[in-house]
Amino acid sequence: MKYLSTRNNNLKESFTNILFQGLSKDGGLYLPESWPLLDINTLRDKSYEEVALNIINPFVANEVSEEDLYEIIISTYKNFSHSKIAPLYKIDNNKYILELFYGPTFAFKDYAMQFLGNLFSHCMQKKANQLTILGATSGDTGSAAINAFKGKKNINVFILHPHNKVSEVQRKQMTTNLDENIFNVAIEGNFDDCQRIVKELFLDKDIQGKTSLTAINSINWARLMAQIIYYFWAYLQIEDKEVSFIVPSGNFGNVFSAHAAQNIGLPIKKLHIATNENDSLNQIIKHGLMRLKEVKQTYSPSMDIQISSNFERQIFESFGHDSEKVNQIMREYSIKGEYEFDKSIISNLQSIYESTAVSNTNTIETISYYKKKYDYLSDPHTATGLSILKNVDPDHPYISLACAHPAKFNDAVEKATGSKSLTPKELENIFDKKEKMTILNNETEAVKSLILKNL
Ligand SMILES: *Cc1c(COP(=O)(O)O)cnc(C)c1O
Repeated sequence: MKYLSTRNNNLKESFTNILFQGLSKDGGLYLPESWPLLDINTLRDKSYEEVALNIINPFVANEVSEEDLYEIIISTYKNFSHSKIAPLYKIDNNKYILELFYGPTFAFKDYAMQFLGNLFSHCMQKKANQLTILGATSGDTGSAAINAFKGKKNINVFILHPHNKVSEVQRKQMTTNLDENIFNVAIEGNFDDCQRIVKELFLDKDIQGKTSLTAINSINWARLMAQIIYYFWAYLQIEDKEVSFIVPSGNFGNVFSAHAAQNIGLPIKKLHIATNENDSLNQIIKHGLMRLKEVKQTYSPSMDIQISSNFERQIFESFGHDSEKVNQIMREYSIKGEYEFDKSIISNLQSIYESTAVSNTNTIETISYYKKKYDYLSDPHTATGLSILKNVDPDHPYISLACAHPAKFNDAVEKATGSKSLTPKELENIFDKKEKMTILNNETEAVKSLILKNL
């Protein structure tokens, strides 16, 4: 399997190269040059780990042996606290919730990040060099990455989060980690600023000459690849002809993984994107208008994103792998702050996706509604999806993703229900621990010198 870039469709990179680079040098995102088709019938009655092996193997074939891959997968999901790993909860007739918060940091990011940590260690044995991981987080990617890479030999981890714009639990999950290879940086800005700094540093020849920078954000294809697994897993537990998913979205990573699952053979009817009041994805799907907007703070901070990096992968696909066109669109978007897609592209997007922007008020009301009606407590990200699940066609199976444990976002939970969520003991412990982080101005240079000082 070779990989091309959304900005250069002639590229033929190996899996190991794209794993360690994350972002292509031309500024584009990596994608497999073709989609391996999977026969869903071969996956029935298999364990989560066996399903994972079947899905990932074609994407890494020739570079990680099947035996090694299986070993990596087995050790990855050992750390998860539910026997089903990603259990599917039936909440009503034809309505399901896929719970993705049984990893060590209680959000769906663990499902791919723990795998990535083990895959990196395995592939580094052959490379034996020093890696610098650089990532931006809206809250959950950071703790998942820190947990996956803490204490690992020859890997330093720099995580940028927007200062005072993540929940207290999210911040403490990152900053109470005192391992020497972990650096938390709070940027005086929003998530889009953090993501821009990361992208600029990836294209900075000076810093790239001094260390090999690696991306662990969902711009890294390996993350999306590992998220495909739970979409198949959920479907296999329902056994219907076709299902639809509702996916709370920010950077367009998780929902693009669902589309990748569809591309390799999962019978998905519709992917319904839920956004919060940061609704740029909703504007694109509904009206074909991609426009730069200010980020607002909402109850679902991990979705407080207006520039969804992974959407470039969808643009590349919708324009039939025309990387010249992608270059032109991204150039125009960065100069004018907007780009308008034509009717044929809009109808292509709408054949795959549907979208709804969910207000703050609706998010809180939804948490309260599900608690009262079903005694089901959701976190505010999950609630954006559940507000859509309330009103879908009752004759067709819908699976809504539960992205995080409610205890990570107790302010919203308390506002909605009058009391806090029960807190897992791992999260209770962090409140008294010492924190370690550096606050920096919203400037790429400031981050660059911090990294260079600590190589
Ligand atoms: C990351 C995250 C999202 C958004 O996922 P994307 O892949 O960025 O679209 C939603 N909810 C939670 C809890 C998250 O951590």
